[in-house]
Amino acid sequence: MSTDRKRSPKVNPTTPARVKAILDALAKAYPNVVCALDHRNAWELTVATILSAQCTDARVNMVTPALFKAFPTPKAMASASLSELEALIRTTGFFRNKAKSIHGAAQIVTEKFGGKVPQTMDELLELPGVARKTANVVLGSWYGIAAGVVVDTHVMRLSKRLELTKQAAPEKVEQDLMKIIPQDRWIAFSHELIHHGRQICSARKPKCADCVLEKLCNSPDKTWSSH
Ligand code: SF4
Repeated sequence: MSTDRKRSPKVNPTTPARVKAILDALAKAYPNVVCALDHRNAWELTVATILSAQCTDARVNMVTPALFKAFPTPKAMASASLSELEALIRTTGFFRNKAKSIHGAAQIVTEKFGGKVPQTMDELLELPGVARKTANVVLGSWYGIAAGVVVDTHVMRLSKRLELTKQAAPEKVEQDLMKIIPQDRWIAFSHELIHHGRQICSARKPKCADCVLEKLCNSPDKTWSSH
């Protein structure tokens, strides 16, 4: 690993040219990357995203088929008992809170939104268990609406390593990203970064020698550097 990665304090890591180079490299590396949570409609994506908190997408994909078979619609899920839901989602962790969230979300979607998942940030944030991250996933991945940038653990870590933000709170990281990334790239950018985080730029041992962003990256976390 190179020991000389000291950046000049005058260099701004968020110039449009550098951001564009990062975006172009990600788009080239991960064309057509999509959400890894299995779903057939906006409601299933909302539930799956709520269940994905502190849990892998693969694990969520293992429980959702039985969950949606038993309770296929928001109305059906609203009529379920909490214990029925808990039993079906137990392996995703924090299952009592998650059961309350998806049950409460089902009730609101049924009673207030006519059974249809709403298409605005403000309305989505009314659903229990839904914060900006989940709302951005549903708006971006299902409705194709770029209302913000999905900031999950991978986007947080990589945005910091790539010096796109110095913030630690997800909402602040999102605000920083929204300022420097063109809106028409918000949806794909988060998918690409999540994919890159899973495949290459892992938390403990990033595979920097295989990374398409290596020449642009000055992170102290690098395990190998060409510059
Ligand atoms: S060079 Fe290493 S630390 Fe930087 S983005 Fe790539 S994998 Fe992550």
